[in-house]
Amino acid sequence: MMIVLIMGPPGVGKGTQAQKIGENFNMAHLSTGDLLRDHVRRETPLGLAAKEKMAAGALVPDDVIIEMMLQVLEQHSSENSANSAALLDGFPRTRDQAGALVNAGINVNAVIDLDAADELIIERLGGRLVHPASGRTYHTIFSPPKTAGVDDVSGEPLVQRPDDRPDTVRARLAVYREQTAPLEDY
Ligand code: ADP
Repeated sequence: MMIVLIMGPPGVGKGTQAQKIGENFNMAHLSTGDLLRDHVRRETPLGLAAKEKMAAGALVPDDVIIEMMLQVLEQHSSENSANSAALLDGFPRTRDQAGALVNAGINVNAVIDLDAADELIIERLGGRLVHPASGRTYHTIFSPPKTAGVDDVSGEPLVQRPDDRPDTVRARLAVYREQTAPLEDY
């Protein structure tokens, strides 16, 4: 299985680009954020454990994330052919998570590393609206939906992610610069 990582600070466009790359190159888009939000919605034990950390803009504990991702990757490789490809969006985010990939014998074929200035990120996330069921995102000014407040495809309501409020965005950026950006060298 080919593995590509897409990395970068929150709000840089990982999810948006990953969705396009996935469609164009027929790669599965595996987003830890989307997977976690789905657990939170379904109120699974994992979702309940992750909810508060996510709302605060902090990282979910490594052991929880590592178990979730290794399971998802195993399932993906058992359901798809050996030459299938996956794009990991949001994993690894710490040194230990990267180590877990290595220990599991999972080779990374390529890394796409995106970056943008903090002020731009704060502006983008402050106006971001999401359609929870599909993960589609909009921006009140830069990329508005056809009808204010509703998803173009399903007509369902759009919401602001609780962690897209300015204080939480600053916390997420700080966590990124401290814990995830150093992985670029690793
Ligand atoms: P963004 O990249 O925009 O911050 P994500 O949707 O990727 O957002 O992640 C949302 C939240 O989910 C993070 O703030 C964190 O709490 C949690 N999370 C996602 N991926 C990981 C990970 N690999 N390790 C720990 N926590 C994670």
